[in-house]
Amino acid sequence: MIYLDNNATTPVIKEVMDVIINSMINDYANPASLSHFEGIKSSIRLKEYRDSICENLGAEIDSIYFNSGATESNNTILKSLVELFPTEKIHIITSKIEHKCILNTCGYLESKGVEITYLPVNKNGVVNVDSLRSAIKKNTRLISVMGANNETGVLQPIKEMGNIAKENNVLFHTDLAQVIGKIPFSFKDYNIDFASFSAHKFYGPKGVGAIYCKHSNLLNRYPLIHGGEQEKGFRSGTINLAGIAGMAKAVSLIKEFCAENKMNEMFELKLFFIKKLTDSIPGVLINGDVYNSLPNTINFSLDGLKSSTFLKKIKSKISLSSGSACMSAEQKGSHVLSAMDLNEDRIQNSIRLSFNHFTTEKDIIQSLGIIIETVNRFKG
Ligand code: PLP
Repeated sequence: MIYLDNNATTPVIKEVMDVIINSMINDYANPASLSHFEGIKSSIRLKEYRDSICENLGAEIDSIYFNSGATESNNTILKSLVELFPTEKIHIITSKIEHKCILNTCGYLESKGVEITYLPVNKNGVVNVDSLRSAIKKNTRLISVMGANNETGVLQPIKEMGNIAKENNVLFHTDLAQVIGKIPFSFKDYNIDFASFSAHKFYGPKGVGAIYCKHSNLLNRYPLIHGGEQEKGFRSGTINLAGIAGMAKAVSLIKEFCAENKMNEMFELKLFFIKKLTDSIPGVLINGDVYNSLPNTINFSLDGLKSSTFLKKIKSKISLSSGSACMSAEQKGSHVLSAMDLNEDRIQNSIRLSFNHFTTEKDIIQSLGIIIETVNRFKG
């Protein structure tokens, strides 16, 4: 079995697992229980993990708040921000290719009277910066555009967008679920007010993630989850210390995984796969800009073969997906490829393949063999 669905989730690696187990054994006390030594020890650990994540991601000290992951972060940021302006009809700008946890939250907010603009993308899957400039209005309070798309891997111009937001005095949020751990990243290089990410996208455990928030005093006034006021009131609920320990370890490994030589090797593997695939199967089309996308992601469409049929035939040998894993239950065509104005056949026939840092050339050659044989058998 070859696992090529790493944009859906990655395996937890041994170094991370060891840290989680160690934390569960040794630091089981609640970090909020400051009345005893064990609790104080856990609270010290929590601070160490937060400091280490902030340092490794170039974030200001104490700007990271822990929670269950990017879905919760995205919900919190959008909903808490709207609550900051109870008497105004506010305007939020996002894009048509965001993850459903942004789009469905925006849909919910629209039903409550918030005005939302969904920016278009070009044929290569890149959000149009000029359309952002012209979408900003007097009542625009937030711009939310993802760093990299989960289906195509296409990188979005978040540097320019963050700068435009700042020039216009608008807050900027970016969903970094597919950026952190996949390419080198530092908050120091961007004008970002809020960001979201999940540990399980970079070899950490599932169900733990964080919000990056430059202005903690803004959003903790209107949290999504009320309770014991952990995380400075931002996110109540007992802290998942072992999960956070694992995430801190996983973040500390990003520099090594995303070193230039590793990124280049992965990109070469991607080009090799694309060349062999397009040389061997007539009519294959690559979706999204190959050169402006994550080095681990390839999105392609087969000619005359629906992805649902293809995936059924291949699922015992290779783990692949069509569109995003979280949406596959819906059996709807990809909203991302639709936004790129691709035709319906190309959308219905699309496959997403995503490597991890342990994917080898041998895995790729074997996968290509299986894919080519499956397509030939179907067509022949
Ligand atoms: N945002 C993006 C871009 C994603 O790819 C995902 C996961 O697929 C999410 C948000 C949601 O992450 P989680 O399921 O960890 O909350």
